[in-house]
Amino acid sequence: MKAITEKMIRNGQGIPLNERIFTTRTLNLNTVKVMGFDMDYTLVLYREAVLEDLIFHLTVENLVEKLGYPGEIRDLKFNTDRVIRGLVIDRKLGNLLKINLFGYIKAALHGNHFYTRDELREIYGDEIVTFQSGRYEMIHTMYSLALSDLFCQITSLEIGSLSYERLYEDLMETINSLHRHGPVKESILKEPDKYILIDKKYVDTLLMLKSFGKRLILITNSDWTYTKSIMPFCYDTFLTGGKTWRDLFDLVIVDAVKPDFFTAQNPYYEVVSENGHLLKTLREIRRDRVYQGGNANAIERLFGVPSGQILYVGDHIYSDVYHSKKISHWRTMLVISELEMELSAAAEADQSLREIKEQMTVKEELELELDNVKKREIAEGAESRHLTGEEERIRGAIQGIDGKVGGLIETLNARFNPNWGELLFAGNDKSYFFMAIQRYACTYTSRVSNLLHYSPVHYFRPPIKSYELT
Ligand SMILES: [Mg+2]
Repeated sequence: MKAITEKMIRNGQGIPLNERIFTTRTLNLNTVKVMGFDMDYTLVLYREAVLEDLIFHLTVENLVEKLGYPGEIRDLKFNTDRVIRGLVIDRKLGNLLKINLFGYIKAALHGNHFYTRDELREIYGDEIVTFQSGRYEMIHTMYSLALSDLFCQITSLEIGSLSYERLYEDLMETINSLHRHGPVKESILKEPDKYILIDKKYVDTLLMLKSFGKRLILITNSDWTYTKSIMPFCYDTFLTGGKTWRDLFDLVIVDAVKPDFFTAQNPYYEVVSENGHLLKTLREIRRDRVYQGGNANAIERLFGVPSGQILYVGDHIYSDVYHSKKISHWRTMLVISELEMELSAAAEADQSLREIKEQMTVKEELELELDNVKKREIAEGAESRHLTGEEERIRGAIQGIDGKVGGLIETLNARFNPNWGELLFAGNDKSYFFMAIQRYACTYTSRVSNLLHYSPVHYFRPPIKSYELT
């Protein structure tokens, strides 16, 4: 077995690719004194396909019952493979788009039809997607799979005078309302085993951080009733000596109203009884209590640390990471659960990718050879027959390589989503979603328990620059 050297550990080579923590801005964990954690999808793991299926059907029911959509949409079935996170909805034309980091459209789906390259060119030309006009919306939030899938399926039904704009608005409003008002959480609490995955490693991670003196805070937008039910389900089973999930945290904040928590000065209310009775709180808060609402500044005062010594870990790219970093200047770690499958597939696809690169190198050499033949032809001032034969030979070889590369690309893509390919890439470029992750998060990883691979004093550094410009 290959020995794991100190250098390899530093480079993350001893850690499976899909369990590594990736860095965009240097982060010295040793200087981090306080760590805040989001709850849903960060400390509490959901069986996402099962939960999205529930959202899909609750949304359909709401559309029919409250907004008068035709009953036939009740026959629609949620398809986990049809969509991925980070796609963009074109509200004007009713298409679902995958865009690269520059905003170029690389793939588009309308209803059940993926546009061909020619159709794409005809519809969008050189359109670059931007988000200022409101025409385009990136679907990266919770329940994004149910929303995108329903948008496509209802679009394909072409219901009367229903515009794509209206459909998008109805879906957003319904899903947001389901999230805010009960039915989803009621279903989860009724059958937590069906919707939630529990993992002892999460408890181990928090205990490890605590044992190194980190102050831990739970900061969730969920309410107290849900939090006090779900956290024991996930954590108390793995704790011994009469300890409960509350012993893991120095402070618990529910109904935090992120991102306002990071951008405004909302007051804190102390939760003073198990049934959620509230007490208006003064400006300062105290440890080992449960609060509702509040703001980031009071946390810095309570623990007596500057913003740069607080790391916030969450799964929402804007409300957890963008605002906490930009406005509060907290350090950030983004949890992207899809990275686990994506990077596991990437590790397996590595061989195909290497073969594609080799074939493309040969192709480039042949193309240079062809250039030389052409130059000779021009220099000789005539198109002689023996040169045309040489040209044909080279062109034939290039065609052969194109065939091989096509097959290799198909093998590679089959490892990712069958419809959209990779989450992180759009063709040869990074996807817009990946660009947003790297722009807004100091670090990112597939799950919180990956912190167990590193010590609480680890120095996370971004990769050294590369001059591989092609
Ligand atoms: Mg969350």
